[in-house]
Amino acid sequence: MNFEDKTILVTAAAQGMGRDAAEALLEADAHVIATDVNAEPLATFADHPRMQIAQLDVTDGAAVQDLIGGLDRLDGLFNCAGIVHSGTIETAREGDWGLAFDVNVRGPARCIQAALPLLLAAETASIVNMASVVSSVVGAPERCVYGTTKAAVIGLTKSVAKDYVAKGLRCNAICPGTVHTPSLDERLEASGDYDAALKAFTERQPMGRLADASEITPLILYLLSEASRFITGQAISIDGGWSA
Ligand code: NAD
Repeated sequence: MNFEDKTILVTAAAQGMGRDAAEALLEADAHVIATDVNAEPLATFADHPRMQIAQLDVTDGAAVQDLIGGLDRLDGLFNCAGIVHSGTIETAREGDWGLAFDVNVRGPARCIQAALPLLLAAETASIVNMASVVSSVVGAPERCVYGTTKAAVIGLTKSVAKDYVAKGLRCNAICPGTVHTPSLDERLEASGDYDAALKAFTERQPMGRLADASEITPLILYLLSEASRFITGQAISIDGGWSA
């Protein structure tokens, strides 16, 4: 897959799947705009003429509009930003729902709204939204708020896909299983017993292991690329057989 002359914006590019995808896109000759709310790790990207880094909080509508609306062109958008709320419906507070929807659902919606004029101006363009297998695909214990928001990401994806299907713009979602990323490590640490929590996460994966971000990146690049030009409105699970 080659992204020569294509410009792709990635949110949450500082670490985890966003970072891996941004690095792979650069390798594949794309112009990459790597954004994250956390500026410090973004600065560790190697200097490259095709890499632009920018601090961007997807909950800040004005900042999203300024940055994305101010670009010259955009051929692809990878909406990766998301946060995990742990708990059941009993423990979820009003503010937990608000924050999770603001980041996980309204965040990608804001980025799509800001990017839409540029994406429609491109001959063909593609949006990839980060959902999760924990969504409308499967439920997981203690992931009530999270799973609800990720199900909404699938709804957002299908809606955008339908509205722009005849205008050269595609929109798909990916639904990973558990991927070993920095925030997953934080959740394992926060459990109080890292090894036991890791064992529990691993046991729900039928392959008996977690994924590495590099195993998710090829699907992201495929969906962003012209190779997937007949695919839109899909939520594609990449979950090591969790939902099989
Ligand atoms: P991560 O959770 O380790 O890193 C997430 C990044 O998002 C961080 O760099 C953080 O600074 C950034 N971020 C958080 N809030 C933001 C905001 N408001 N605006 C912009 N950036 C923000 O990385 P990950 O685990 O690869 O997760 C990335 C995405 O993948 C998330 O949407 C997550 O829900 C989803 N996901 C993760 C897993 C998993 O097991 N790790 C599985 C399925 C889906």
